[in-house]
Amino acid sequence: MNLFTALQAAWPVQSQGTAILTGQGLAYTWQDLDRATAMLANLIDSLRLRGREGRPPVVAAHVDKSVESLLLYLATLRAGCTYLPLNPAYRAAELTHFLEDARPAMLVCRPADQDWVIPLAAHSQVGHLFTLGDQRTGSLLTHASLHSDVHTVAPRGLDDLAAILYTSGTTGRSKGALLSHGNLLSNAQTLLRHWDWRQDDCLLHALPVFHIHGLFVASHCALLSATPMRWLDKFDAAGVLAQITDAHAPRATLFMGVPTMYGRLLASPALSAAATAHMRLFVSGSAPLLPAAFDEFAQRTGHTILERYGMSETGMLCSNPCRDSGGPRLSGSVGRALPGVGVRIVDDAGLHVQRNVTGHVEVQGPNVFGGYLGLPDKTAEAFTDDGWFRTGDVGRIDAEGYVHLVGRAKDLVISGGFNVYPAEVESHLDKLPGVAESAVVGVPHPDFGEGVVAVVVPQPGHTLHEAELIRAIKDELAGFKCPKRIFSVSELPRNAMGKVQKNVLRQQLDGTFA
Ligand code: ATP
Ligand code: MG
Repeated sequence: MNLFTALQAAWPVQSQGTAILTGQGLAYTWQDLDRATAMLANLIDSLRLRGREGRPPVVAAHVDKSVESLLLYLATLRAGCTYLPLNPAYRAAELTHFLEDARPAMLVCRPADQDWVIPLAAHSQVGHLFTLGDQRTGSLLTHASLHSDVHTVAPRGLDDLAAILYTSGTTGRSKGALLSHGNLLSNAQTLLRHWDWRQDDCLLHALPVFHIHGLFVASHCALLSATPMRWLDKFDAAGVLAQITDAHAPRATLFMGVPTMYGRLLASPALSAAATAHMRLFVSGSAPLLPAAFDEFAQRTGHTILERYGMSETGMLCSNPCRDSGGPRLSGSVGRALPGVGVRIVDDAGLHVQRNVTGHVEVQGPNVFGGYLGLPDKTAEAFTDDGWFRTGDVGRIDAEGYVHLVGRAKDLVISGGFNVYPAEVESHLDKLPGVAESAVVGVPHPDFGEGVVAVVVPQPGHTLHEAELIRAIKDELAGFKCPKRIFSVSELPRNAMGKVQKNVLRQQLDGTFA
């Protein structure tokens, strides 16, 4: 089944009910979504795009977030093509790489980028280029307006390719994950049930839509349950709080964010129990939520943030409970495996470990992708002989089935032959007085192979002293885990999803022990 068919089947297209309300006060009805995606799909059909290597044609979007960019995604599904979202911050070198890699048949870019994108698109033999601005400007909508608002959804099987989603590039170059209609639909159905989505829910959507979190997790839940969204093209704490406190219908009940967004909300004095009293659920993911943020959010608002875990290749894998009957939402845990998803922990030899023993996280389920675009070796390496996907994350499962991530295998530090999990060291550093947050990496060391190095960000108004921090951490941790150097920095290098880029830190700190 085409994922679009499943979404559309839920929409009350005859009603004038609001599907999306933007921060600028623009309302889109379900009928608007249906008609606009029909026009865009008819435009895509009229281009007679051709796919490559037996796959449906790829439609790439390198545009700012707007409701229309979401409509372009939906129309691409509707036309049976494959959607490729790209971070609009990418400049020429990055865009060239993705165009060469994915070979889209059609590309939509920002009007302001047209001049430099045209030659790149021509060089990569992209047949059709359109523009889309964030204020409903550009050639895409002009052309679509010439087409009928009635369209028959292209039939697709659950195994057919729906999207190519590039990973965030936190550990190296981004890889294109090939996701099928079935991968996306099964995960959306699971999340709706697990998060107990209700007919009177309204999601406040403030995430970017070039990444799994905003494009799939957030949008699919709303679109598959036919509940309205309040839509912000960009996140800013004041804007989010204004939306949350706006009592007009549809009133926001759910918010999804990455940890940096929660940090910014906490920095706003307007975040309070009164302001969020009517909210049902706050969800966090994409990067680890600091326990201090989890606790402060609960104190300030009375809401316990629900942390969940997933990745581009698999969609969502684990979630803390939504209902009280499912148990507590734990700080520092990503919760249990979602229904239908298998999560297991293995040692370096691939053997199952016991509960509470730390090892490699492997997963299985209808949500797990088919492979990486053009990378057969990486795809083969990523799967075990019995078909489980190696996430590259390291963690343990406790006696209650909760998964606790301790970091990524690539970030594991091996110092003097001992394994050091950066997350463990970071959690101790974060508790020291004056430390806001920290990141621990291993860098080449002449004696130990790798030496543990930390960077710490001071809390506002604090100055941190290396010798004092090292002394304090030595009271807490075994010597081999203690950072040999600790540098104070004003902020950690993060990518668009707020993930700490440890590869950047490793490069910067490479010569520390030279
Ligand atoms: P790349 O694969 O290119 O290095 P990436 O893994 O950051 O980048 P994504 O697919 O966007 O790309 O992110 C998935 C990863 O994000 C997971 O493998 C995990 O390491 C991390 N992650 C997601 N949610 C959480 C969470 N709640 N807590 C800790 N880590 C998380
Ligand atoms: Mg990854």
